[in-house]
Amino acid sequence: MAIKSIGIVGAGQMGNGIAHVLALAKYDVVLNDLTQDSLDAAIARIDKNMERQVKGGKISAAEKSDALARITPSLALRDVAQSDLVIEAATENEGIKQKIFDALLPDLKPDTILTSNTSSISITRLASRTDRPEKFMGFHFMNPVPVMQLVELIRGIATDQDTYKACLEVVEALGKTAASAEDFPAFIVNRILMPMINEAVYTLYEGVGSVQSIDSSMKLGANHPMGPLELADFIGLDTCLAIMNVLHDGLADTKYRPCPLLTKYVEAGWLGRKTQRGFYDYRGETPVPTR
Ligand code: NAD
Repeated sequence: MAIKSIGIVGAGQMGNGIAHVLALAKYDVVLNDLTQDSLDAAIARIDKNMERQVKGGKISAAEKSDALARITPSLALRDVAQSDLVIEAATENEGIKQKIFDALLPDLKPDTILTSNTSSISITRLASRTDRPEKFMGFHFMNPVPVMQLVELIRGIATDQDTYKACLEVVEALGKTAASAEDFPAFIVNRILMPMINEAVYTLYEGVGSVQSIDSSMKLGANHPMGPLELADFIGLDTCLAIMNVLHDGLADTKYRPCPLLTKYVEAGWLGRKTQRGFYDYRGETPVPTR
């Protein structure tokens, strides 16, 4: 089945980026969130990010306005359910995601493919609660979506080949590259990336280095474009903690134990860039380490 219309649930940093790239690739997009404020903020963000692409000569002003016109913000999940493909990109919490799929089911077209942008939650388990586990898979974009080249495609145990092929075609239409991953906790990228970030937080917690020395070490010593703590702030510390918990619970190995300092930051509501404070404080002109 050729995909033409795509519904996105959750218009946060991932949802708005996904809407951005899909609309530029000429898909009709319905973007859903819980409040009008979230939808307005998402559209404003997409507008701003596309404007940057216009200024940089990557897209024309006409392509920008065409793409924006293809995005329909909606508070009604029913509007999302009528799409050929649904990409769920809400908060990384299994209960929230399950409720979204439960609410979508009654209004879905028979052929609609359901996917989740989850960073770590079992695709097979999410799929098993729906009426179409064979038409369910993981569609995992990287952040920031307009910039990052990779999309992980994760098959649940029941996912059929037609579903995989339909999703692969979407990835290719975006000019991105797909990596196929099996459905084990955190898939490929986060299985490797999150324990590194968690280890960086332990390195800070144990006083081996400061925020600045840890980030400089990995940038200059391992040639990483961002330091691990800077990257954690960018991803969101709540998302990092949620993924470590999924690894810890799902693989039952103490090497995935979330660092207590990461938990402490999340308890404080210091979630990184999105709340203006994390391992750095972003409220001034330049980020200042918080430890
Ligand atoms: P975010 O906090 O920026 O956005 C989540 C959005 O979901 C919020 O706008 C929230 O209002 C909305 N939401 C919550 N419950 C909802 C509901 N019931 N119906 C509709 N909308 C609802 O989070 P994010 O970083 O965009 O992450 C979203 C998903 O993408 C998560 O599953 C996360 O693991 C995954 N992901 C995140 C990253 C990253 O780097 N942040 C990368 C890849 C994948």
